[in-house]
Amino acid sequence: MKDEKKTCPSSVAAPGAQLIGVVNSGGIVDILKKPLTLDAAFVEEVQKGRSPEQRFRFAGRCVQSGCNQWKSGGCSVIQRVTDAMKHDINDSEINLPACGIRKTCRWYFQKGKLACAICPLITTDNGIENNP
Ligand code: SF4
Repeated sequence: MKDEKKTCPSSVAAPGAQLIGVVNSGGIVDILKKPLTLDAAFVEEVQKGRSPEQRFRFAGRCVQSGCNQWKSGGCSVIQRVTDAMKHDINDSEINLPACGIRKTCRWYFQKGKLACAICPLITTDNGIENNP
């Protein structure tokens, strides 16, 4: 798979973006089997209340060097998190969540199934500055 036209799995709510997950009451992201494309009405509605990126996960186009998280030729978000957690996860026990964007996912492209094991633990906006 070529490193182009990848999808960022931790993007923001915007028309045309995809809803790929819902943060459940335990703070874990339930990944949707089939992403839903956001329209303007959904985006307007979801802006009410807490930040939508605290409650949902959205996917959009990976803009590579156009993003603050792009470092050393890759997404530093998944690099950082997998570096921190790789010793806690047994590769052979990973069950890939069904996910509709895997074919183009930036994180999966960089880190394979380890990314998918950690992905549900990542909330785009954790309410703290400089996240995720
Ligand atoms: S890291 Fe895996 S589970 Fe998460 S969005 Fe990408 S392909 Fe889907």
